[in-house]
Amino acid sequence: MTDQQRQADAVFRDLFGRPPVLAAAAPGRVNLIGEHVDYCDGFVLPMAIERETVIVAAPRPVVGGEPIARLHSTAFAETVELPLTPGTGPPAAAPGWSRYLAGVIAGFLDRGATIPAFDAVVDSTVPLGGGLSSSASLEVAMATIVATLAGHAIGPLEVAQLCRRAEHEFAGVPCGVMDQCASVLCIRDHLLLLDCRSLAVMQVPFQRPDLRVLVMNSNVRHALNDGGYAARRADCQRAAAILGVPSLREATLAELEASRGALGDTIFRRARHVVTEIARTLDAATAIAQDRWAELGELMAASHVSLRDDYAVSCLELDLLVELAGAQPGVIGSRMTGGGFGGCTVTLVEAARADAVMAAVARGYRQGTGRECTLFTTRPAAGARLVWLPAS
Ligand code: ADP
Ligand code: MG
Repeated sequence: MTDQQRQADAVFRDLFGRPPVLAAAAPGRVNLIGEHVDYCDGFVLPMAIERETVIVAAPRPVVGGEPIARLHSTAFAETVELPLTPGTGPPAAAPGWSRYLAGVIAGFLDRGATIPAFDAVVDSTVPLGGGLSSSASLEVAMATIVATLAGHAIGPLEVAQLCRRAEHEFAGVPCGVMDQCASVLCIRDHLLLLDCRSLAVMQVPFQRPDLRVLVMNSNVRHALNDGGYAARRADCQRAAAILGVPSLREATLAELEASRGALGDTIFRRARHVVTEIARTLDAATAIAQDRWAELGELMAASHVSLRDDYAVSCLELDLLVELAGAQPGVIGSRMTGGGFGGCTVTLVEAARADAVMAAVARGYRQGTGRECTLFTTRPAAGARLVWLPAS
Protein backbone atom coordinates (compact mmCIF):
# COMPACT_ATOMS: atom_id res chain seq x y z
CA MET A 1 0.00 0.00 0.00
CA THR A 2 1.15 3.56 -0.63
CA ASP A 3 1.19 6.08 2.23
CA GLN A 4 -1.85 7.76 0.74
CA GLN A 5 -3.78 4.46 0.53
CA ARG A 6 -2.79 3.67 4.13
CA GLN A 7 -4.14 7.02 5.32
CA ALA A 8 -7.42 6.63 3.46
CA ASP A 9 -7.62 3.07 4.80
CA ALA A 10 -7.25 4.34 8.39
CA VAL A 11 -9.97 6.97 7.90
CA PHE A 12 -12.26 4.32 6.39
CA ARG A 13 -11.81 1.94 9.35
CA ASP A 14 -12.41 4.81 11.75
CA LEU A 15 -15.63 5.94 10.08
CA PHE A 16 -17.16 2.69 8.96
CA GLY A 17 -15.76 0.19 11.48
CA ARG A 18 -14.34 -2.32 8.98
CA PRO A 19 -11.51 -2.39 6.42
CA PRO A 20 -11.98 -1.30 2.79
CA VAL A 21 -11.49 -4.02 0.19
CA LEU A 22 -10.47 -2.09 -2.90
CA ALA A 23 -8.73 1.13 -3.83
CA ALA A 24 -8.71 3.17 -7.03
CA ALA A 25 -6.14 5.80 -7.88
CA ALA A 26 -6.51 8.40 -10.65
CA PRO A 27 -4.00 11.18 -11.31
CA GLY A 28 -4.30 14.88 -12.00
CA ARG A 29 -2.73 16.16 -15.21
CA VAL A 30 -0.73 18.96 -16.72
CA ASN A 31 -0.90 19.88 -20.38
CA LEU A 32 2.55 20.25 -21.94
CA ILE A 33 1.24 21.95 -25.08
CA GLY A 34 -2.03 22.32 -27.03
CA GLU A 35 -3.88 24.99 -25.06
CA HIS A 36 -7.40 26.24 -25.78
CA VAL A 37 -7.72 23.92 -28.76
CA ASP A 38 -9.71 21.03 -27.24
CA TYR A 39 -13.03 22.74 -27.93
CA CYS A 40 -11.92 23.41 -31.53
CA ASP A 41 -11.38 19.66 -32.21
CA GLY A 42 -7.61 20.12 -31.99
CA PHE A 43 -4.73 18.08 -30.55
CA VAL A 44 -3.52 18.27 -26.96
CA LEU A 45 -0.46 16.76 -25.27
CA PRO A 46 -1.10 16.24 -21.56
CA MET A 47 0.59 13.91 -19.07
CA ALA A 48 -0.49 12.52 -15.72
CA ILE A 49 1.27 14.00 -12.68
CA GLU A 50 2.49 12.22 -9.55
CA ARG A 51 -0.44 13.59 -7.59
CA GLU A 52 -3.64 11.60 -7.46
CA THR A 53 -7.03 10.99 -5.97
CA VAL A 54 -7.28 7.73 -4.06
CA ILE A 55 -10.65 6.21 -3.16
CA VAL A 56 -10.85 3.20 -0.86
CA ALA A 57 -14.18 1.40 -0.70
CA ALA A 58 -16.11 -1.67 0.38
CA PRO A 59 -19.60 -2.93 -0.41
CA ARG A 60 -22.08 -2.96 2.47
CA PRO A 61 -24.87 -5.47 3.12
CA VAL A 62 -28.25 -3.76 2.63
CA VAL A 63 -30.69 -4.26 5.48
CA GLY A 64 -33.93 -3.27 3.77
CA GLY A 65 -34.60 -0.01 1.92
CA GLU A 66 -32.91 1.37 -1.18
CA PRO A 67 -29.13 1.06 -1.63
CA ILE A 68 -27.10 4.17 -0.89
CA ALA A 69 -23.43 5.12 -1.05
CA ARG A 70 -21.82 6.76 1.99
CA LEU A 71 -18.96 8.88 0.71
CA HIS A 72 -16.43 10.74 2.80
CA SER A 73 -13.94 13.33 1.52
CA THR A 74 -10.87 13.98 3.67
CA ALA A 75 -10.43 17.35 1.91
CA PHE A 76 -13.80 18.58 3.16
CA ALA A 77 -13.93 16.38 6.31
CA GLU A 78 -17.52 15.64 5.35
CA THR A 79 -19.63 12.50 4.66
CA VAL A 80 -22.59 12.43 2.26
CA GLU A 81 -25.17 9.78 1.44
CA LEU A 82 -26.16 9.38 -2.21
CA PRO A 83 -28.94 7.15 -3.57
CA LEU A 84 -27.98 4.35 -5.99
CA THR A 85 -31.46 3.83 -7.43
CA PRO A 86 -32.17 4.95 -11.02
CA GLY A 87 -34.16 8.17 -11.26
CA THR A 88 -33.20 9.53 -7.83
CA GLY A 89 -30.70 12.36 -8.09
CA PRO A 90 -28.56 13.67 -5.25
CA PRO A 91 -30.39 15.29 -2.32
CA ALA A 92 -30.92 19.02 -2.92
CA ALA A 93 -28.75 19.87 0.08
CA ALA A 94 -25.82 17.71 -1.05
CA PRO A 95 -22.56 19.69 -0.92
CA GLY A 96 -20.99 20.88 -4.19
CA TRP A 97 -18.10 18.42 -4.09
CA SER A 98 -20.45 15.44 -3.96
CA ARG A 99 -22.14 16.45 -7.23
CA TYR A 100 -19.14 15.16 -9.22
CA LEU A 101 -19.64 11.77 -7.55
CA ALA A 102 -23.41 11.85 -8.00
CA GLY A 103 -22.78 12.54 -11.70
CA VAL A 104 -20.56 9.48 -12.02
CA ILE A 105 -23.13 7.31 -10.23
CA ALA A 106 -25.90 8.63 -12.51
CA GLY A 107 -23.75 7.85 -15.56
CA PHE A 108 -23.47 4.18 -14.54
CA LEU A 109 -27.17 3.93 -13.66
CA ASP A 110 -28.02 5.35 -17.10
CA ARG A 111 -25.97 2.56 -18.67
CA GLY A 112 -28.08 0.04 -16.80
CA ALA A 113 -25.53 -0.84 -14.13
CA THR A 114 -26.74 -2.16 -10.77
CA ILE A 115 -24.60 -0.58 -8.07
CA PRO A 116 -24.56 -2.32 -4.69
CA ALA A 117 -24.60 -0.25 -1.48
CA PHE A 118 -21.06 0.79 -0.56
CA ASP A 119 -18.94 3.06 1.60
CA ALA A 120 -15.93 5.01 0.37
CA VAL A 121 -13.29 7.48 1.50
CA VAL A 122 -11.82 9.98 -0.98
CA ASP A 123 -8.36 11.43 -0.44
CA SER A 124 -6.40 13.56 -2.90
CA THR A 125 -2.88 14.91 -3.26
CA VAL A 126 -3.95 16.94 -6.32
CA PRO A 127 -4.42 20.54 -5.17
CA LEU A 128 -8.13 21.38 -5.40
CA GLY A 129 -8.97 24.17 -7.83
CA GLY A 130 -5.33 24.57 -8.88
CA GLY A 131 -5.80 23.85 -12.58
CA LEU A 132 -4.31 20.36 -12.30
CA SER A 133 -7.71 18.71 -12.64
CA SER A 134 -8.48 17.39 -9.20
CA SER A 135 -12.07 17.24 -10.48
CA ALA A 136 -11.30 14.81 -13.32
CA SER A 137 -9.12 12.67 -11.05
CA LEU A 138 -12.01 12.53 -8.56
CA GLU A 139 -14.49 11.48 -11.24
CA VAL A 140 -12.20 8.90 -12.79
CA ALA A 141 -11.24 7.33 -9.45
CA MET A 142 -14.94 7.13 -8.58
CA ALA A 143 -15.81 5.59 -11.95
CA THR A 144 -13.10 2.97 -11.44
CA ILE A 145 -14.59 2.03 -8.05
CA VAL A 146 -18.21 1.99 -9.27
CA ALA A 147 -17.44 -0.07 -12.40
CA THR A 148 -15.70 -2.67 -10.24
CA LEU A 149 -18.35 -2.84 -7.49
CA ALA A 150 -21.11 -3.07 -10.09
CA GLY A 151 -19.22 -5.63 -12.19
CA HIS A 152 -19.97 -3.37 -15.14
CA ALA A 153 -17.84 -3.63 -18.28
CA ILE A 154 -16.86 -0.22 -19.66
CA GLY A 155 -13.99 0.82 -21.93
CA PRO A 156 -11.46 3.54 -21.01
CA LEU A 157 -12.81 6.12 -23.47
CA GLU A 158 -16.34 5.49 -22.26
CA VAL A 159 -15.15 6.12 -18.71
CA ALA A 160 -13.63 9.44 -19.80
CA GLN A 161 -16.84 10.48 -21.56
CA LEU A 162 -19.06 9.40 -18.67
CA CYS A 163 -16.90 11.46 -16.29
CA ARG A 164 -16.91 14.48 -18.56
CA ARG A 165 -20.70 14.30 -18.71
CA ALA A 166 -20.82 14.15 -14.91
CA GLU A 167 -18.79 17.36 -14.78
CA HIS A 168 -20.97 19.08 -17.41
CA GLU A 169 -24.36 18.04 -16.10
CA PHE A 170 -23.86 17.71 -12.36
CA ALA A 171 -21.09 20.20 -11.56
CA GLY A 172 -22.06 22.67 -14.30
CA VAL A 173 -18.52 22.93 -15.70
CA PRO A 174 -18.39 22.89 -19.55
CA CYS A 175 -14.91 21.30 -19.72
CA GLY A 176 -13.33 19.59 -22.72
CA VAL A 177 -12.58 15.86 -22.54
CA MET A 178 -8.79 16.16 -22.20
CA ASP A 179 -8.64 16.01 -18.40
CA GLN A 180 -10.66 12.85 -18.06
CA CYS A 181 -8.86 11.16 -20.97
CA ALA A 182 -5.49 11.98 -19.42
CA SER A 183 -6.52 10.65 -16.02
CA VAL A 184 -7.77 7.41 -17.57
CA LEU A 185 -5.31 6.75 -20.39
CA CYS A 186 -1.89 8.12 -19.44
CA ILE A 187 0.96 5.71 -18.86
CA ARG A 188 4.18 6.24 -16.93
CA ASP A 189 6.99 8.03 -18.79
CA HIS A 190 4.73 8.94 -21.72
CA LEU A 191 2.84 11.97 -22.92
CA LEU A 192 -0.63 11.46 -24.33
CA LEU A 193 -1.25 12.89 -27.80
CA LEU A 194 -5.02 13.16 -27.94
CA ASP A 195 -7.06 14.03 -31.00
CA CYS A 196 -10.02 15.86 -29.46
CA ARG A 197 -12.13 15.26 -32.59
CA SER A 198 -11.86 11.49 -32.90
CA LEU A 199 -10.52 10.77 -29.38
CA ALA A 200 -7.76 8.74 -31.03
CA VAL A 201 -4.67 8.67 -28.82
CA MET A 202 -0.98 8.06 -29.26
CA GLN A 203 1.39 7.39 -26.39
CA VAL A 204 4.53 9.49 -26.94
CA PRO A 205 7.54 8.09 -25.05
CA PHE A 206 9.32 10.61 -22.86
CA GLN A 207 12.73 9.03 -23.06
CA ARG A 208 14.92 11.30 -20.97
CA PRO A 209 15.23 10.13 -17.35
CA ASP A 210 17.36 13.23 -16.65
CA LEU A 211 14.44 15.63 -17.29
CA ARG A 212 11.66 16.78 -14.95
CA VAL A 213 8.43 18.62 -15.54
CA LEU A 214 8.15 21.58 -13.20
CA VAL A 215 4.65 22.77 -12.34
CA MET A 216 4.42 26.27 -10.88
CA ASN A 217 1.17 27.66 -9.54
CA SER A 218 0.96 31.46 -9.64
CA ASN A 219 -1.68 31.26 -6.89
CA VAL A 220 -3.70 33.96 -8.61
CA ARG A 221 -7.04 33.55 -10.33
CA HIS A 222 -8.28 36.70 -12.05
CA ALA A 223 -12.02 37.19 -11.98
CA LEU A 224 -12.12 37.33 -15.79
CA ASN A 225 -11.63 33.57 -15.85
CA ASP A 226 -15.15 32.25 -16.37
CA GLY A 227 -16.46 34.91 -18.74
CA GLY A 228 -13.12 34.90 -20.57
CA TYR A 229 -13.30 31.18 -21.29
CA ALA A 230 -16.84 31.37 -22.69
CA ALA A 231 -15.92 34.45 -24.76
CA ARG A 232 -12.95 32.64 -26.33
CA ARG A 233 -15.09 29.64 -27.20
CA ALA A 234 -17.64 31.94 -28.80
CA ASP A 235 -14.89 33.75 -30.78
CA CYS A 236 -13.71 30.41 -32.16
CA GLN A 237 -17.22 29.43 -33.19
CA ARG A 238 -17.68 32.73 -34.97
CA ALA A 239 -14.37 32.32 -36.77
CA ALA A 240 -15.33 28.83 -37.92
CA ALA A 241 -18.75 30.08 -39.10
CA ILE A 242 -17.18 32.93 -41.09
CA LEU A 243 -14.67 30.53 -42.66
CA GLY A 244 -17.44 28.00 -43.38
CA VAL A 245 -15.76 25.09 -41.56
CA PRO A 246 -17.22 22.89 -38.78
CA SER A 247 -14.37 23.81 -36.42
CA LEU A 248 -11.01 25.60 -36.56
CA ARG A 249 -9.36 22.17 -36.84
CA GLU A 250 -10.40 22.33 -40.50
CA ALA A 251 -8.90 25.79 -41.13
CA THR A 252 -5.44 26.59 -42.47
CA LEU A 253 -3.31 29.65 -41.81
CA ALA A 254 -3.56 30.59 -45.49
CA GLU A 255 -7.38 30.54 -45.31
CA LEU A 256 -7.26 32.68 -42.20
CA GLU A 257 -5.02 35.24 -43.88
CA ALA A 258 -7.30 35.30 -46.92
CA SER A 259 -10.34 36.04 -44.70
CA ARG A 260 -8.59 38.50 -42.43
CA GLY A 261 -10.90 41.36 -43.41
CA ALA A 262 -14.09 39.36 -42.89
CA LEU A 263 -12.88 38.04 -39.53
CA GLY A 264 -11.79 41.37 -38.08
CA ASP A 265 -8.61 41.79 -36.07
CA THR A 266 -9.69 40.23 -32.75
CA ILE A 267 -11.37 37.13 -34.18
CA PHE A 268 -8.47 36.73 -36.62
CA ARG A 269 -5.96 36.67 -33.78
CA ARG A 270 -8.04 34.24 -31.70
CA ALA A 271 -8.30 31.89 -34.68
CA ARG A 272 -4.61 32.28 -35.48
CA HIS A 273 -3.77 31.06 -31.99
CA VAL A 274 -5.88 27.94 -32.42
CA VAL A 275 -4.60 27.08 -35.90
CA THR A 276 -0.94 27.60 -35.02
CA GLU A 277 -1.28 25.87 -31.62
CA ILE A 278 -2.72 22.73 -33.23
CA ALA A 279 0.30 22.65 -35.57
CA ARG A 280 2.72 23.27 -32.68
CA THR A 281 1.22 20.41 -30.68
CA LEU A 282 1.76 17.90 -33.50
CA ASP A 283 5.28 19.26 -34.04
CA ALA A 284 5.96 18.95 -30.30
CA ALA A 285 4.90 15.29 -30.23
CA THR A 286 7.24 14.59 -33.16
CA ALA A 287 10.09 16.54 -31.57
CA ILE A 288 9.75 14.55 -28.32
CA ALA A 289 9.55 11.21 -30.12
CA GLN A 290 12.65 12.15 -32.16
CA ASP A 291 14.62 13.45 -29.17
CA ARG A 292 14.78 17.05 -30.44
CA TRP A 293 14.36 18.85 -27.11
CA ALA A 294 15.62 22.29 -28.09
CA GLU A 295 12.89 22.39 -30.73
CA LEU A 296 10.31 21.43 -28.11
CA GLY A 297 11.51 24.35 -25.98
CA GLU A 298 10.98 26.75 -28.88
CA LEU A 299 7.48 25.38 -29.49
CA MET A 300 6.59 25.87 -25.82
CA ALA A 301 7.87 29.45 -25.94
CA ALA A 302 5.89 30.17 -29.11
CA SER A 303 2.78 28.67 -27.50
CA HIS A 304 3.09 31.05 -24.58
CA VAL A 305 3.54 34.08 -26.80
CA SER A 306 0.52 33.06 -28.87
CA LEU A 307 -1.65 32.59 -25.76
CA ARG A 308 -0.44 35.93 -24.40
CA ASP A 309 -0.67 38.07 -27.52
CA ASP A 310 -3.18 36.43 -29.88
CA TYR A 311 -5.48 34.66 -27.45
CA ALA A 312 -5.05 37.15 -24.57
CA VAL A 313 -5.52 34.63 -21.77
CA SER A 314 -2.23 35.10 -19.91
CA CYS A 315 -1.61 37.60 -17.10
CA LEU A 316 1.38 39.40 -15.57
CA GLU A 317 1.96 36.66 -12.98
CA LEU A 318 2.07 33.85 -15.57
CA ASP A 319 4.28 35.93 -17.87
CA LEU A 320 6.67 36.58 -14.99
CA LEU A 321 6.90 32.88 -14.05
CA VAL A 322 7.65 31.96 -17.67
CA GLU A 323 10.21 34.76 -18.01
CA LEU A 324 11.95 33.86 -14.74
CA ALA A 325 12.12 30.16 -15.65
CA GLY A 326 13.33 30.90 -19.18
CA ALA A 327 16.31 32.85 -17.81
CA GLN A 328 17.58 29.89 -15.76
CA PRO A 329 20.27 27.46 -16.95
CA GLY A 330 18.91 23.95 -17.45
CA VAL A 331 15.44 25.08 -18.55
CA ILE A 332 14.38 23.63 -21.92
CA GLY A 333 11.01 25.33 -22.25
CA SER A 334 8.29 27.05 -20.26
CA ARG A 335 4.72 28.23 -20.87
CA MET A 336 1.41 28.93 -19.20
CA THR A 337 -0.85 25.88 -19.02
CA GLY A 338 -4.58 25.50 -18.46
CA GLY A 339 -7.31 28.04 -19.05
CA GLY A 340 -5.20 31.04 -18.11
CA PHE A 341 -5.89 34.33 -16.27
CA GLY A 342 -3.88 32.76 -13.43
CA GLY A 343 -3.26 29.13 -12.52
CA CYS A 344 -0.13 27.26 -13.52
CA THR A 345 2.87 27.23 -15.82
CA VAL A 346 4.64 24.10 -17.06
CA THR A 347 8.40 24.01 -17.49
CA LEU A 348 10.74 21.33 -18.78
CA VAL A 349 13.98 21.31 -16.80
CA GLU A 350 17.12 19.20 -16.33
CA ALA A 351 16.66 17.23 -13.10
CA ALA A 352 20.06 18.26 -11.77
CA ARG A 353 19.11 21.94 -12.07
CA ALA A 354 15.53 21.68 -10.86
CA ASP A 355 16.14 22.73 -7.24
CA ALA A 356 18.15 25.79 -8.28
CA VAL A 357 15.51 26.79 -10.85
CA MET A 358 12.71 26.43 -8.31
CA ALA A 359 14.57 28.55 -5.74
CA ALA A 360 15.39 31.28 -8.26
CA VAL A 361 11.87 31.45 -9.67
CA ALA A 362 10.25 31.49 -6.21
CA ARG A 363 12.56 34.36 -5.18
CA GLY A 364 11.94 36.35 -8.36
CA TYR A 365 8.18 35.82 -8.15
CA ARG A 366 8.11 37.02 -4.55
CA GLN A 367 10.13 40.11 -5.48
CA GLY A 368 8.05 40.83 -8.57
CA THR A 369 4.56 40.28 -7.16
CA GLY A 370 4.78 40.15 -3.37
CA ARG A 371 3.17 36.69 -3.66
CA GLU A 372 4.29 33.12 -3.12
CA CYS A 373 4.12 30.59 -5.93
CA THR A 374 3.69 26.87 -5.22
CA LEU A 375 5.90 24.51 -7.21
CA PHE A 376 6.77 20.86 -7.57
CA THR A 377 8.48 18.58 -10.08
CA THR A 378 7.05 15.43 -11.55
CA ARG A 379 7.67 12.79 -14.18
CA PRO A 380 4.89 11.68 -16.54
CA ALA A 381 2.90 9.35 -14.29
CA ALA A 382 0.47 6.44 -14.63
CA GLY A 383 -3.25 6.79 -15.33
CA ALA A 384 -6.11 5.32 -13.33
CA ARG A 385 -5.78 1.86 -11.82
CA LEU A 386 -7.52 -0.43 -9.36
CA VAL A 387 -5.88 -2.19 -6.44
CA TRP A 388 -7.45 -4.98 -4.36
CA LEU A 389 -6.38 -4.40 -0.78
CA PRO A 390 -4.87 -7.23 1.24
CA ALA A 391 -7.20 -8.71 3.85
CA SER A 392 -6.24 -7.73 7.39
P1 ADP B 1 -9.32 21.59 -10.63
O1 ADP B 1 -10.00 20.48 -11.36
O2 ADP B 1 -8.44 22.39 -11.51
O3 ADP B 1 -8.60 21.14 -9.41
P2 ADP B 1 -12.05 22.42 -10.30
O4 ADP B 1 -12.67 23.66 -9.80
O5 ADP B 1 -12.40 21.93 -11.64
O6 ADP B 1 -10.46 22.58 -10.14
O7 ADP B 1 -12.38 21.21 -9.31
C1 ADP B 1 -12.21 21.36 -7.92
C2 ADP B 1 -13.45 20.83 -7.22
O8 ADP B 1 -13.53 19.40 -7.40
C3 ADP B 1 -13.43 21.02 -5.73
O9 ADP B 1 -13.89 22.29 -5.34
C4 ADP B 1 -14.37 19.91 -5.26
O10 ADP B 1 -15.71 20.27 -5.45
C5 ADP B 1 -14.04 18.78 -6.24
N1 ADP B 1 -12.98 17.93 -5.68
C6 ADP B 1 -11.77 17.71 -6.17
N2 ADP B 1 -11.06 16.86 -5.37
C7 ADP B 1 -11.87 16.55 -4.35
C8 ADP B 1 -11.73 15.74 -3.17
N3 ADP B 1 -10.59 15.08 -2.88
N4 ADP B 1 -12.79 15.65 -2.32
C9 ADP B 1 -13.94 16.29 -2.61
N5 ADP B 1 -14.11 17.08 -3.68
C10 ADP B 1 -13.11 17.22 -4.54
MG1 MG C 1 -11.40 20.68 -12.93
